[in-house]
Amino acid sequence: MSDCHNLEKCGFVKKYGESKALAVKGFVAMYCMSEKQEECKRKEYKQKNGVPPIDEMLPNGGMIKD
Ligand code: SF4
Repeated sequence: MSDCHNLEKCGFVKKYGESKALAVKGFVAMYCMSEKQEECKRKEYKQKNGVPPIDEMLPNGGMIKD
């Protein structure tokens, strides 16, 4: 399975890739680089609404907390 085509542009990954590196890496491995990308709530949101969700939304639909 190839990586999610949105990986380079994904707001969540871009915004939190450094400050929350460990968590983001875990999500990227679990969702963006696997078949589970089809279950990604961020992806689903974009498909439904035509615009990406806020950067704080996680692939599992939860919200990142500071
Ligand atoms: S978080 Fe979702 S939309 Fe963003 S790159 Fe990963 S699988 Fe794609």
